[in-house]
Amino acid sequence: MATRDAGETDDPARDDRANYDYRSDDVTRPGLVADLRKRVEGEVRFDEYSRQLYATDASAYEVTPIGVVFPRSTEDVAAVMTYCAEREIPVLPRGGGTSLAGQSVNEAVVLDFTHHMDALLDFDPEGRTARAQPGIVLGDLNRALADSDLKFAPDPAWGDKSALGGAIGNNSTGAHSLKYGKTDAYVEECEVVLADGTVTRFGEVTMDELREGADGDSLKARIYAEVLRILDEEAEAVRDAFPRLKRNVSGYNLDRLVEEAEDGAVNLARLLAGSEGTLAIVTEATVSLEPVPETKSMALLTYGSLNDAMEDVAPILDHDPAAVEVLDDVLVELARDTEEFRDVVEMLPEGTDSVLLVEFYAEDDADGREKVARLRGDREGDRALAAMEAHDEAERARFWKLRKSGLPILLSRTTDAKHISFIEDAAVPPEHLPEYVAEFQRVLEENDTFASVYAHAGPGCLHIRPLIDTKSPAGVNQMAAIADGVTDLVVEYGGSVSGEHGDGRARTQWNRKLYGERVWNVFRDLKTAFDPDWLLNPGQVCGDVSTTENLRFSPDYGFDAGFDPALNWENDNGFQGMVELCHGCGGCRGGQETTGGVMCPTYRAADEEITSTRGRANMLRQAMSGSLPDDEQFDVEFMHEVMELCIGCKGCARDCPSEVDMAKLKAEIEHEYHRRHGASLRDRLFANIGRLSALGSALAPLSNWATKIPGSRILAEKTVGIASERSLPTFHRESLEDWFEKRGTRVAEADADRRVVLFPDTYTNYNHPEAGKAAVRVLEAAGVHVRLPSGVTASGRPAHSKGFLDKSREQAERNVAALAPFVRDGWDVVVVEPSDAVMFQSDYLDLLPASEASGSSSGQYAEPRSADPEAGGIRTEAERLAANTYGVCEYLDTFDFDLAFGGSGSLTYHGHCHQKATKKDHHAVSVLRRAGYEVDPLDSGCCGMAGSFGYEAEHYSMSQAVGRILFEQVDASAGAEVVAPGASCRTQLGDWQGEEPPHPIEKVAEALR
Ligand SMILES: Cc1cc2nc3c(=O)[nH]c(=O)nc-3n(C[C@H](O)[C@H](O)[C@H](O)COP(=O)(O)OP(=O)(O)OC[C@H]3O[C@@H](n4cnc5c(N)ncnc54)[C@H](O)[C@@H]3O)c2cc1C
Ligand code: SF4
Ligand code: SF4
Repeated sequence: MATRDAGETDDPARDDRANYDYRSDDVTRPGLVADLRKRVEGEVRFDEYSRQLYATDASAYEVTPIGVVFPRSTEDVAAVMTYCAEREIPVLPRGGGTSLAGQSVNEAVVLDFTHHMDALLDFDPEGRTARAQPGIVLGDLNRALADSDLKFAPDPAWGDKSALGGAIGNNSTGAHSLKYGKTDAYVEECEVVLADGTVTRFGEVTMDELREGADGDSLKARIYAEVLRILDEEAEAVRDAFPRLKRNVSGYNLDRLVEEAEDGAVNLARLLAGSEGTLAIVTEATVSLEPVPETKSMALLTYGSLNDAMEDVAPILDHDPAAVEVLDDVLVELARDTEEFRDVVEMLPEGTDSVLLVEFYAEDDADGREKVARLRGDREGDRALAAMEAHDEAERARFWKLRKSGLPILLSRTTDAKHISFIEDAAVPPEHLPEYVAEFQRVLEENDTFASVYAHAGPGCLHIRPLIDTKSPAGVNQMAAIADGVTDLVVEYGGSVSGEHGDGRARTQWNRKLYGERVWNVFRDLKTAFDPDWLLNPGQVCGDVSTTENLRFSPDYGFDAGFDPALNWENDNGFQGMVELCHGCGGCRGGQETTGGVMCPTYRAADEEITSTRGRANMLRQAMSGSLPDDEQFDVEFMHEVMELCIGCKGCARDCPSEVDMAKLKAEIEHEYHRRHGASLRDRLFANIGRLSALGSALAPLSNWATKIPGSRILAEKTVGIASERSLPTFHRESLEDWFEKRGTRVAEADADRRVVLFPDTYTNYNHPEAGKAAVRVLEAAGVHVRLPSGVTASGRPAHSKGFLDKSREQAERNVAALAPFVRDGWDVVVVEPSDAVMFQSDYLDLLPASEASGSSSGQYAEPRSADPEAGGIRTEAERLAANTYGVCEYLDTFDFDLAFGGSGSLTYHGHCHQKATKKDHHAVSVLRRAGYEVDPLDSGCCGMAGSFGYEAEHYSMSQAVGRILFEQVDASAGAEVVAPGASCRTQLGDWQGEEPPHPIEKVAEALR
């Protein structure tokens, strides 16, 4: 099935064994595809999967495009545009697809610039300019400039996921717009493809040059002529209609044009800023750069009410801050609920309702402190109740994190009602904020909903996302009424319907009311001049799209999972709620250091939308809501292309702002897939790896010899599909259980303060008993009585991650039953292998029946079953087990044992993704440091092995592509030796470096005195 597109050299799917190519076989408009393929070098994808992947952005809207092209050059873009212009086919340029107003979805041929056209072409530090392709991610651009202490100044919050073309398209800006303004101020020149396919450049031209250029019949000449006409005839109307506001990105950038003309020259590249792909396609941009500020200082001011905070914005602006951000009472309370910020919120004075964060740019630390002191002297004790300060980088980062900390909770609603964006960035002059906010709240109350208020108070642009259920007609009406009411408000206060995120589908309709009929028509005339047939992102900015049409969740929306979920989904709307949870922000499309660390390794490796959490979530929802053929989610192709490539690292459950748990969704889909299609021999082998390993151990050394004879690996690949590059596991004749039985315990129960049942996980027991022996030695050195339990079975992790949920449930039941008496009697359970520990700590609760009170939506167990009815049912036992199970280093760290160590040397630590997902990763680092080692903990994600995934021949190349990210980090680390608690990670690293690294507990044992 895999095909080879020219130039996809780093693409894991180019491995001949890869059974995926990121698309489906079901191609729409094959004639169009064939024509375009003849004309462009980049990939042309008009298959159903690709179309659905590009049907959404971060907004509340969904429109299926005609197809997607990944251009490699300006010539490709021109060829697509020329072809489409001749046939009147709409075209939509797109960057990261992180727009919040629906401007990056349309029924058009989408041009995704982020794949190939993402290079920094030229950087002139002296002239402070950079020339780049539109697909470059802003964060990458700034990293490339960092050594010169220069930056592209507009700082949209999602700059690490969004692209330069998108920033120009939306005229993006960020928290520091008070200092830097919007993107338009930095666009110097653009190479563009016009609506007829012409390639040209826009930059600054004098009025004389504009007049000269307007002479002729080319499209560019007609554009110049229309711009001249607008300047001659409509300048006054534009001046009257545009709000006097730092933050206005609605409509076309005509106020800047008129202002520039007053000085004798205009820059048409800047007219493109905020045009949302409706005027021309940018293929290259030269942008001016700003110096990175020397240093910064922050103050956090607290207020008794949101109104007081709003009243204080204008006086604070007199202090010339770089940013003023607000958090209302809802977000302050949500921050209090987070472990990380509870202490900060608790330090706020009693009566704090809302806070303002104020940041200053400063020449040095003293200057920053003085600015903060002056602000405090002026505001504290007046309206502001109190203030806190942050000067060093870590403290400031914490304040900024606090500002964003509550948002994930707002965005994690699995109900039908969601906090949607459609009036979330309206702006008013800051002096009107108090009245505006009060009236805004009134509009929400009149429409029976609410929202919290946060973000950029300084320039008057507040983020407000009302809670609305657009699946109901009443919700849709609510949306329309609120949008109408808020438009009236911004008109009344001289504001704008969009101060940041653009018009798109959400705001276009309201531009008419905002600017009035005359300027609305000027917009339309300008659009017609640029794009006579309205083919570029049609309908947006000054077209006919409506706020309440093309909603992702509309009254017509229907959902049918096609099966009864087998796991507990203890959230509102259960399984469906999780499938619908992704709000499309694209947060999973980022580099290691920009996503929270773990999410999403396969996107990083393959750079394909379908390999991101967002891609998978979109595909699942679309399959279950009728955008794909019935039951497509259980189709073989869907399994290969969409679900199988998720390596189940659980990174998204931790790092995604909405906490989309794709690993759990995948387990459900695979389970049902097995039920419908049966399971392969290889899947069954891996699911039963516990039994196989016991056999391998019993037959060792014969079993080891068999795996090492020449040709055995090739045979393994040919017969069961295990990649021939992989070394096969070595079995120990003496398992950990055998060793312990012979050796016996060395700390008597009566002499011990704590008692531990050491769970003999499969890998530790049969393949790497040294780690288990080390655990026993260290625990006993800590005075712990250790026992290995009888009657347990494998943890169920391999079966669980392969979707054999009935089997993993049986294993869970057996282990819970065997371990429950110990736990009830006050013993702790310790596990050496992290993914098995997490099975006990978390996944068993998904498998075992929830109590009635918890509202499980599991279709499999109506009645709780019990291991010991008197002990409160199996679920209660499982919960107790979860609370008393520890990874071995977690255990040592949690109970802070008195141990004497003499370790030395430096280690590089790679944690297991499941432990990271459950926030238990720091313990090993802490224990290793106590043992005397210098430790460099990598900010690494999944190793790519992911249990059996990396063994599978068709997934070997993807596993390596993910692994390479880790290998590079290990190479860059100063540690002399790498340690990794995960068995899979050690295999992956072992295959790479030639020798398996140890488990951290082995190094801890080595350091014992
Ligand atoms: C969590 C979150 C936070 C955000 N914070 C901010 C913020 O602080 N400030 C802010 O301004 N925005 C913010 N946004 C919105 C969005 O991220 C930005 O506007 C961003 O700059 C859009 O970039 P993109 O690459 O995703 O563009 P896309 O969404 O892909 O495209 C945006 C528009 O630009 C057009 N476009 C893209 N490429 C080209 C091209 N080559 N030629 C012509 N037109 C093109 C598209 O047609 C579309 O109309 C946020 C979004 C999210 C999800
Ligand atoms: S999966 Fe999460 S991070 Fe990714 S787009 Fe969806 S909500 Fe955003
Ligand atoms: S579980 Fe891991 S690989 Fe799968 S979608 Fe989430 S982050 Fe990506």
